[in-house]
Amino acid sequence: MTVPFFDITRQNDSLRKEIDAAVSRVIDKGRFILGENVTLLEKEFAAYCGTKFAVGVASGTDALHLALRACGVKEGDEVLTTPFTFVATAEAIAYCGATPVFIDIEPKTFNIDPARIKEKITKKTRAILPVHLYGLASDLGAIGDIAREHGLKLIEDCAQAAGAEADGRKVGGFGEAGCFSFFPTKNLGCFGDGGLVTTNDEKIADEIRILRGHGSRKTYHYDLIGYNSRLDELQAAVLRVKLPHLDGLITSRQKKASIYYKHLKNLSDIVLPHEPAGHKHTYNQYTIRTERRDDLFEFLKMKSIGSMVYYPLSLHLQKAFAGLKHSAGAFPQSEKAQAEVISLPIFPELTDQEAEDACHAIASYFER
Ligand SMILES: *Cc1c(COP(=O)(O)O)cnc(C)c1O
Repeated sequence: MTVPFFDITRQNDSLRKEIDAAVSRVIDKGRFILGENVTLLEKEFAAYCGTKFAVGVASGTDALHLALRACGVKEGDEVLTTPFTFVATAEAIAYCGATPVFIDIEPKTFNIDPARIKEKITKKTRAILPVHLYGLASDLGAIGDIAREHGLKLIEDCAQAAGAEADGRKVGGFGEAGCFSFFPTKNLGCFGDGGLVTTNDEKIADEIRILRGHGSRKTYHYDLIGYNSRLDELQAAVLRVKLPHLDGLITSRQKKASIYYKHLKNLSDIVLPHEPAGHKHTYNQYTIRTERRDDLFEFLKMKSIGSMVYYPLSLHLQKAFAGLKHSAGAFPQSEKAQAEVISLPIFPELTDQEAEDACHAIASYFER
């Protein structure tokens, strides 16, 4: 038995006709930059998230960068975030000339620990950037309270969590901005790079629209130095086919998660994902922890069961961030997680049998 870690072709096959037709319409029209599909996707995605505005950009990384800039983050500022995330979260802060100030994670959710935020707030702190890792929303109630109390902007990194909920509300609208990625492996993926920012603040939406198009409001008149960071019309057309299926795709992910839970819950050597009350986990990844991670990884590889380690090295220990001068031991929970996490195959089209095969392989490893 071979279980792929991820296989996007299965999803494309089932939507192929609709996608082909949508792409053909764009080709026939010949408008490839900021056409009607981008405008309509922005409306539809904002409605899906329950926000007033959405602005498509070139990638999730750019969504973070432009949202931070639109929220006024600049040279010399500090932005609070997690060290246990994809590099783009901290890169985007650095692009603004600001400093990422890391806060350790909660071991159960892998997300920023709200109890550790206040001790890191200084006069330079401008914003909090929590990441909804693996598709599970951060503790947005507690984080939102701190942001309001200290006058900080709250910008959500929703790259892995499109459709996730906290307190019955979809992520993306809890603070000033929500940043999404449409990279092919995300909950809602396109055929290349793409991203989007949600917001309820018209000024922020407006600023991001200007930033993504070279700082221009009026053709060939530039109010500020911006970027070339538009969401492609072709990608928007693909995304508009997929968006109505997003909730169903998430339900399929949850179903695979329940198969993993059923077959793995009695194994005492592993810790399964935690879903706090009131949260809707979208299982962009199904990540378990075990002290025998490296050995399990090799075993699964030998059995042709896909798995990945997200992430093997916390950002504070990366060469790229050596300038921040953190040493090993600075963020113990993040460092423990990097040694223990392993993500199992999970995507909407993974078959029940494949999930069960993965479970049996894992069980056989621990029963040896
Ligand atoms: C994927 C991802 C990003 C970046 O998205 P891109 O579209 O690849 O630029 C940012 N943050 C997190 C947590 C991600 O998983």
